[in-house]
Amino acid sequence: MIKITKSSKLNGVSYDIRGPVLSQAKKMEDEGTKVLKLNIGNPAAFGFDMPEDMHRDIIRNLSDAQGYCDSKGLYSARVAVYQHYQQKNLPNISVDNIFIGNGVSELIQMITQALLNDGDEVLIPAPDYPLWTASVKLSGGKPVHYLCDEAADWFPDLADIRAKITPKTRALVLINPNNPTGAVYSKALLEGLIDIAREHNLLLLSDEIYEKILYDDAQHWSIASLCDDLPVITLNGLAKTYRAAGLRMGWMVLSGKVSAMKDLIDGLNMLASMRLCANVPAQFAIQQALGGVQSIDALIQPGGRLYEQRQIAWQGLNDMQGVSCVKPMGALYAFAKIDTQHFNVKNDERMMLDLLREEKILLVHGRAFNWPQPDHFRLVFLPHMDELEPAMERMQRFFEHYRQQ
Ligand code: PLP
Repeated sequence: MIKITKSSKLNGVSYDIRGPVLSQAKKMEDEGTKVLKLNIGNPAAFGFDMPEDMHRDIIRNLSDAQGYCDSKGLYSARVAVYQHYQQKNLPNISVDNIFIGNGVSELIQMITQALLNDGDEVLIPAPDYPLWTASVKLSGGKPVHYLCDEAADWFPDLADIRAKITPKTRALVLINPNNPTGAVYSKALLEGLIDIAREHNLLLLSDEIYEKILYDDAQHWSIASLCDDLPVITLNGLAKTYRAAGLRMGWMVLSGKVSAMKDLIDGLNMLASMRLCANVPAQFAIQQALGGVQSIDALIQPGGRLYEQRQIAWQGLNDMQGVSCVKPMGALYAFAKIDTQHFNVKNDERMMLDLLREEKILLVHGRAFNWPQPDHFRLVFLPHMDELEPAMERMQRFFEHYRQQ
């Protein structure tokens, strides 16, 4: 009998944000149950619309968007990205070394495919955005997780990073502002990461997709702006700040010691050519997004929707028995700690399944973010207050009585 099996390249590759708990939620929805999905950072799904001007520019330019474009992306879009990073003082950038992709997701996979030989190691934060780990594995590399320290506002533990460097380490990934922890890194911390990269000849890969989603007095520094003598790749896109995840638009900018990346650039060019180009109509939104009024600003100020929802989520979690949460200073998530002894939790995914069955709320367990212990979960604070507040009450009710069998 014919049996079509999947490639062994996929062994050990996982992306559990869309894993078994989501499958169960879908099954419940198919049976007619309403599930509140606090599992995916998709702003548009919660009524955060992308700016009108971006819509307009896509529609206006549709007739010019019927053919393929340059594999690296539309020139006008890349110039807009270039100007954005010129303002952020990234050294040694050029329009030629900017690539537009179908979301940051595609670019992450392009970088790992272009960079890694079998067994090459990449330092990735724990917890992480799991696509980084999955992409490194799929590219034949070895993800090596360095710890972020909850007791230090979830900042990376520099000593742990140093301890995990081997002759095979090629690159250091940072996610700033961070998914899932909401940490926004200080200049001093970034300088610590730069010192390590400099000492060990590492490529810095900085995922900054939440660049402008900052709360309170948080200030964002692009690590690339702090060093001109190291190769750095900065990634960003339209999905979060511009609430346009469905457009699938991202970009990467090579900066600093670009001459050291000559060979890698050849590889990136080849991979970019193989997929011809990124979606062309959506690229017309980039110039407007980066150049226009930054409408995210109103959402993240006190009184703004995202700011207030962050407050409710963070306070609500800390009010729950056996749950605590470091205040997210950026992004769209709270990464909460659960007292495993109190709840007798051995399996965090099962806890999320139990919450889903009892309270019809979908969250993601911490180990999906390559966190080593079963003692965290991530909540997305995108729902409107009239959904978020009752959800927090339902979670409180669940945690009041929960004990894992
Ligand atoms: N990087 C991080 C840190 C993310 O959180 C996400 C999406 O949640 C992505 C990349 C993927 O972005 P895109 O939608 O541009 O592919």
